[in-house]
Amino acid sequence: TTSAPPGVASTLARPPAKPSVFIPVNRTPEMQEERLKLPILAEEQVIMEAVAEHPIVIVCGETGSGKTTQVPQFLYEAGYSRWGIIGITEPRRVAAVAMSQRVAKEMNLSQRVVSYQIRYEGNVTEETRIKFMTDGVLLKEIQKDFLLLRYKVVLIDEAHERSVYTDILIGLLSRIVSLRAKRHLPLKLLIMSATLRVEDFTQNQRLFPQPPPVVKVESRQFPVTVHFNKRTPLEDYSGECFRKVCKIHRMLPAGGILVFLTGQAEVHALCRRLRRAFPHTRRRPPGNPAALGPRSGGLSALGVPGCQRASAFPAGEQPDASLPLHVLPLYSLLAPEKQAQVFQPPPEGTRLCVVATNVAETSLTIPGIKYVVDCGKVKKRHYDRVTGVSSFRVSWVSQASADQRAGRAGRTEPGHCYRLYSSAVFSDFEQFPPPEMARRPVEDLILQMKALNIEKVINFPFPTPPSVEALIAAEELLVALGALQAPQKTERSRLSCPITALGRTMATFPVAPRYAKMLALSRQHGCLPYAITIVAAMTVRELFEELDRPAASDEELSRLKDRRARVAQMKRIWAGQGAARKLGDIMVLLGAVGACEYSGCSPQFCEANGLRYKAMMEIRRLRGQLTTAVNTVCPEAGLFVDPKMQPPSESQVTYLRQIVVAGLGDHLARRVQSEDLLDDKWKNAYKTPLLDDPVFIHPSSVLFKELPEFVVYQEIVETTKMYMKGVSAVEVQWIPVLLPSSCQFDKPLEEPPPAYCPEKGRVLCHRASVFYRVGWPLPAVQV
Ligand code: ADP
Ligand code: MG
Repeated sequence: TTSAPPGVASTLARPPAKPSVFIPVNRTPEMQEERLKLPILAEEQVIMEAVAEHPIVIVCGETGSGKTTQVPQFLYEAGYSRWGIIGITEPRRVAAVAMSQRVAKEMNLSQRVVSYQIRYEGNVTEETRIKFMTDGVLLKEIQKDFLLLRYKVVLIDEAHERSVYTDILIGLLSRIVSLRAKRHLPLKLLIMSATLRVEDFTQNQRLFPQPPPVVKVESRQFPVTVHFNKRTPLEDYSGECFRKVCKIHRMLPAGGILVFLTGQAEVHALCRRLRRAFPHTRRRPPGNPAALGPRSGGLSALGVPGCQRASAFPAGEQPDASLPLHVLPLYSLLAPEKQAQVFQPPPEGTRLCVVATNVAETSLTIPGIKYVVDCGKVKKRHYDRVTGVSSFRVSWVSQASADQRAGRAGRTEPGHCYRLYSSAVFSDFEQFPPPEMARRPVEDLILQMKALNIEKVINFPFPTPPSVEALIAAEELLVALGALQAPQKTERSRLSCPITALGRTMATFPVAPRYAKMLALSRQHGCLPYAITIVAAMTVRELFEELDRPAASDEELSRLKDRRARVAQMKRIWAGQGAARKLGDIMVLLGAVGACEYSGCSPQFCEANGLRYKAMMEIRRLRGQLTTAVNTVCPEAGLFVDPKMQPPSESQVTYLRQIVVAGLGDHLARRVQSEDLLDDKWKNAYKTPLLDDPVFIHPSSVLFKELPEFVVYQEIVETTKMYMKGVSAVEVQWIPVLLPSSCQFDKPLEEPPPAYCPEKGRVLCHRASVFYRVGWPLPAVQV
């Protein structure tokens, strides 16, 4: 996707002031008619005039008003694509794929012309004129071509979500637009938002010295009646959702139901439960029609018992009640073809019920929804600023999100929204969700920015800047990884460390800096293919199926127990013996991927061994992609993609262990020494420099019982205790060599600590004769 389409570069040289050549689009009459219903069509002229007159335009309009699908078409028809690509960024992969397909269909064009590019895949061709992509993809392209010369227009979609990549893109594009103007190769920037809260963009002098015009799209939104619960259910909101859907389905007139839950597992559980309650095949009621359940309770009779029997309603007698329910899940990791189902009309004689996570809030508009059931919660990754401990937490949504969700019910006719919480709880919600930038660690972004030669990140025009402490934490980590030059002692201004050669290499790998460091180090002893696999497996979340879930029945419980035992056994096998064993959970990942590839990577193999098939597929894709990335940085590595690998040799495993330590170095932990044991509950606990309280090895780890003195961990998760996951054992003598910054040396090192040495391609030959202490009580050891 890097070479410019033929003709684009040369025509870019002399663009006319305004595109004036319309490109006809050959839509089908039905499609044209459908489009005309969208509110944004009424604003086409206003938008296009604003775009012609201003380099930057903000378009605000309710979800479903047609921003994503129509604005690219306006631009295409107005001829903008003659001078470059029209690029649209989406925060979610789902949306990039679905929207490119939809727009291609609406325009009657092939996906060779209206295409998408996401992290692992795409269908972009030389003919591509409209390109949907994730925001991360565009950020990578800026690294290769800062002026984005292939593009004539960039649309940043879903800007209200304020994802970090969106924010950073807006900051970068504000500069790119003025640079392009100076070169007389104007670039148009459109920022599209579902809410009117755009002050962070319009009132931000540093970002846009001249506030861009805002075009508002008035949408016909039908009234939605909001029903609050009298009381807020404490725990079982899934059960409450189930009862509410039963109730709606049995009592209320036709119209689709959209349920908001928080996660994939919940979505599936509710789908199963609903399908069981309202099966697709119409069945005659078995006998007694009196057992049909109450019909008169109205909306106040919530939680009616007997809704499990609802399938027994006689067909025809009560049309709505007898309808089977067409239940569909929707979440971001769902396979695209399954996702597409929600846009299809439900089978004749059924009622659509989509059980979704947050993706249905603004990214995707599902047609025909009349009822919304909102649990009021959202699952978000929560980061501890200081320690980097992350956990997924379910928390209340914001008022803005709750209103967005309710709005989904009023797209085609007046609708109803059932909130499973009280109005008192609602009034305590925060008004808007905070931008992601304010919540998460930013080391990956800072590395990307430094690779763009933005040295003083503190001066970057962020729409909402990250906190200074988050910036400092990010720089410190990057310095420790060797990606940035360490600041001189005399230097007073922090946050301006330039990038190193190693950092540049790291920035080209599409993974977080810690993993990028591992890749950058692994060009030795034939370690690359293994390191790539390890990084791919560590990056893809949750390779193993969740088997700790509560079981619904005794039968399920015993099945789960059997599977847990089998998985534990397989893990022990994959962990190997000797040196391999010390690589710990990382070896398990390597072993699992290897075994799976040797078996042909079938869904059956994954199922039998407790592996998530989809994660395995993603690992495979990522391995291919990382191999390409390594070959690009270092063509002489000459890697080729072969999913199958021989197991690593004993010495390779030792190198791999050291590579892992070099990447995860700031995640070093030492077992609490017996003399320090004040309390028995800290037996087998570990101390880390970052946390005051000790942490434990997670029971799912293969090192859970081995308890090496030093370990590095991939992450700490907080459940009942603080647990380290992805644990690997560390030899004490490696620490001063590989992690000099975790040590206090009693005399200066004779040589500088071993930085990455690309010529030699190795780091692990350094010997130091020093005493060291690792940031917290530790006896001096001579190595
Ligand atoms: P916005 O970006 O303003 O939220 P969209 O452009 O995404 O709006 O959607 C406009 C309309 O197109 C919506 O009514 C939506 O239902 C419809 N739509 C979007 N994608 C599809 C699809 N794949 N199939 C059918 N209708 C779709
Ligand atoms: Mg949209």
